[in-house]
This record gives sequence, C-alpha cells and structure tokens, in this order.
Amino acid sequence: MQMSYVEWVCPECKTKNRESCNSWMYGSPIRECKACRSEYLDRRWREVAIDGFDPRSNNSSFFLKGALVLLAIAAICGALIWFQSGGGGYSMKILLVGVFSALGTLFCMFNFLRIKLGFQSKDDDKFMAESKARLSDSLYVEKLRKYGYKV
Ligand SMILES: [Zn+2]
Repeated sequence: MQMSYVEWVCPECKTKNRESCNSWMYGSPIRECKACRSEYLDRRWREVAIDGFDPRSNNSSFFLKGALVLLAIAAICGALIWFQSGGGGYSMKILLVGVFSALGTLFCMFNFLRIKLGFQSKDDDKFMAESKARLSDSLYVEKLRKYGYKV
C-alpha cells in the first residue's frame, strides 16, 4: 500500500497538521491536533464499519480503464518525442506528460492486479477489523454520535 499524506488546519490553534494515511483514507474521522491536542472531525476519513469501503477501491475495471487511457497518452507522447527528436529536439513538457502517464499506467496496473489477486480484500478485512475494534469502545461511539454519525 503506497503512502499518501493528508493535511488539515486545526480549528483551535490554526496549526497545520500533516499525517500519513493509506490511499483510501480508511481510519478514524476523529483526529487529534498534534500541537494543542484538541479533537476535530475530518469527514475525509472513512470509518469503514459505518461508511463502507470506497467503491473505487475494489473496482478492478476502474483501474484497468485508467491503465489503458494512460498507456494511450504515454504512447502518443512517445510517438511525438520520436518524431520531434528526428528534427533535432523534443518538448520537455511532452516528455514529462509521457513519463507521468507511464508511471500512472504502472500504478493502475498494480492496483488492478492487487484487486484481482485478492490482496485488496485482505487489506479491507484488516481495515474493517480495526474499524470494528474502534467502534467497540462506547466512548468513541458516543463521540461519533455527537459529530452526527449514525452508529
Ligand atoms: Zn490545534
């Protein structure tokens, strides 16, 4: 699972917090400010036992389509560079787009295979277990209710 980062500004002390998260932001939506320890609701996080999994996370055709589109873009960029370099130079922009599209293709294929080979559902089981463990704490459930979650 590749790491992503999420940033938020504390409503109490205005400190910018930066945290690592998994790519689908599965975790508790109740975050704590690292500077002043005040709690804050961040709806971008998904408490999977309540919110469910991100529908895209198990949609292998979403990633397959993404891989094909990006591969096509990378191929077009490659062809453009091929023609341009014959004329003595090529556009750096096209090269960059091509490189990013190629990396995006690999990323999509990687996710496609993860879903097809069942690794994603293993991860999902783990996230669901963590989510249920959090919800077995009645204090935590009380907090979620206060924030408007239907638990
Ligand atoms: Zn704060």
